[in-house]
Amino acid sequence: MATATVARDATAPAAATRRIVVADELGYCWGVRRALDIVQQAADAGGPIAPIGDVIHNPQVVERLRAKGVEGAATVDEAAGRGFKRVAITAHGMGPHLAQQASAAALELVDTTCPLVTKVQRLAQKLVRQGYYLVVYGDSYHPEVRSVIGWAGTSKALAAKKVADLPWNAPRGAVGPGVVTPPRKVAVVSQTTKNVDELMKFAQELQAMVLPEGGEFRLCNTICEPTSERQTALKRLVERDHVDLILAIGGKKSSNTARLAEVGNLMGVASHHIERPEEIEPAWLEGAATVGVTAGASTPDDVIQSVVDALAARGYAPPEGGIRPVDPDYVPSY
Ligand code: SF4
Repeated sequence: MATATVARDATAPAAATRRIVVADELGYCWGVRRALDIVQQAADAGGPIAPIGDVIHNPQVVERLRAKGVEGAATVDEAAGRGFKRVAITAHGMGPHLAQQASAAALELVDTTCPLVTKVQRLAQKLVRQGYYLVVYGDSYHPEVRSVIGWAGTSKALAAKKVADLPWNAPRGAVGPGVVTPPRKVAVVSQTTKNVDELMKFAQELQAMVLPEGGEFRLCNTICEPTSERQTALKRLVERDHVDLILAIGGKKSSNTARLAEVGNLMGVASHHIERPEEIEPAWLEGAATVGVTAGASTPDDVIQSVVDALAARGYAPPEGGIRPVDPDYVPSY
């Protein structure tokens, strides 16, 4: 993307050595682009459509979609009550109940579930069929996690972000008052947007509880390739460009943007999750010669560009080559 010409803030220091560097991989992921294309094409061809839940965790994009006939509804009943004839499953996916509800309400259903989420849903079903108790490492309230548990279709599945969230408090074989041990077979899958280092820590702790006394433990790393790439690109940026500050851009509800800020902070660089350029606090920039910019999977390029422009207006040299161009032929492995 070409870098926009920016009006210089008269009070800003001279550019000198201050500069902006951007991660090689940032912003819209393949799954989000795909979902937005599908829903937009559906609206263009057949009129208004209501995705159930947040179509994307970015308020600016939600606003733009609304103007084009794509307007979220909390439930199928609400969409039907508001006169929609079609509903959509978002990229995060939904449990099997949604298709039943849409059919009962005589609404057409458009499915934009990211294939990488579908893969986790199918894997959850398979693990449950194989007799594993399923643990989904992730946020229990997140639609993707709820969809995976919905497809698992069993009471022997739950979501957890730390071992203390689980109902078990001791390794298999332990006995004593108040002791609750895990079942013999436990499998872990991950929310696709989690941090791999944190997943490994969680899995190691849980494995130590499950393996004694002939227990079986299985870890399936289902963090998606675009999420891993964004985290790896950020680590590369920190190591290669010696950044003093990281701005991770994305909607406040965006899990993967929060993870990017977490990765930056874990690497010892002050990192802030912001939704828009107005949130940049002047104190953050004091002494920050190199600002690293990254963005979550649901952040459009123009929002990233607006943050770059705001930094440029404060005297930072824009990134050489601008924000990375989109490769239209990219398909992640899954
Ligand atoms: S973050 Fe990964 S799983 Fe989620 S929509 Fe994007 S590509 Fe798909």
